[in-house]
Amino acid sequence: MEIVTRALARDRRAIARLISLMEQGGDEARRALSHLYPHTGQAHIVGITGAPGTGKSTLVNEMAKAHRRNGLSVGIIAIDPTSPFSGGAILGDRIRMRDLATDLGVFIRSMATRGSLGGLARATADAVHVLDAVGYPLILVETVGAGQSEVDIARTAHTTIVVQMPASGDDIQAIKAGILEIADVIVVNKADLPGADNAVAALRAMLDLNSAHGEWPHGQLLHEEDIVTDTARARTSWRPPVLKTSALYGEGIPELVAAVQAHQQYQCDSGLRQRREHERATDELRRILRYALLERLLNQISDRDLEGTVERIVAREQDPYSAAEKLIAEAGLTELGIALH
Ligand code: GDP
Repeated sequence: MEIVTRALARDRRAIARLISLMEQGGDEARRALSHLYPHTGQAHIVGITGAPGTGKSTLVNEMAKAHRRNGLSVGIIAIDPTSPFSGGAILGDRIRMRDLATDLGVFIRSMATRGSLGGLARATADAVHVLDAVGYPLILVETVGAGQSEVDIARTAHTTIVVQMPASGDDIQAIKAGILEIADVIVVNKADLPGADNAVAALRAMLDLNSAHGEWPHGQLLHEEDIVTDTARARTSWRPPVLKTSALYGEGIPELVAAVQAHQQYQCDSGLRQRREHERATDELRRILRYALLERLLNQISDRDLEGTVERIVAREQDPYSAAEKLIAEAGLTELGIALH
């Protein structure tokens, strides 16, 4: 495919068009991806997540600038699952443009929700494949911490940075059960504001609490066999560092960049990188299958039938499992032997 050839030669317009193609999905996107895929697998993918306003965009810009100073080119994908308008994403790009737009070593792309969140996760994963294939060694994926979506998106990353800002102890407590569990590096940004040291101390205490239960919070990577002996544990466990930054003033950025590099190195040395790749591929395959099967099923069911079924469930005339079973049967998909529970 000509567009793929041009993108692989680092033609920026071709890269941008390929990402648009991935957003739209469909056969052409799939064909392009099959040509691109053999070239992927080289990039280190870093997810940056946290609540709106914590300074993620500022931080991502500063990280990109630091990597540029080290001579690395950087791909940036900014996702805003809360914005129904791509216009918001374009505005976000303009703000970034001031610093980075003229730098050919940086490729920035914003993505907003088009259709379902599942669609966004797919488009994001495919956009990452594009940037990986065309040779960006570092890809920063910035996403708003808003629920399941950022967890899904973080799972496509090798290193996940969770961004916090100084707040009362209670606020920090509130995130404990949530996205801290996916963190490989934790950042308290806006460290120029009061309360940063308290926030760092509270986050470290939380990490210690979790580690006392046998594993560090990013347990997604740790399997039981890793924590059987102290030696094995030392080899395979990574304690997420808690760092202070002031992105607005460029402070703490070299330390953050170093922490990401250390995590990357650790994954390579411990063999976790291979395992992570395996998990990423598993997740992606499952996501594609789930999406494809769901689409197939939903295409067979009219909105009216679906709505009627929902009404019966709400009226307690039918339980949701029996209802699903009936819809699958009516769609002629019983032969797939789908287990519902
Ligand atoms: P995002 O919504 O998480 O992407 O946050 P932004 O990067 O858009 O930043 C939100 C606001 O916080 C902006 O007004 C930034 O200028 C400001 N900001 C970002 N980093 C810092 C920082 O280190 N210190 C202070 N005081 N403000 C910051």
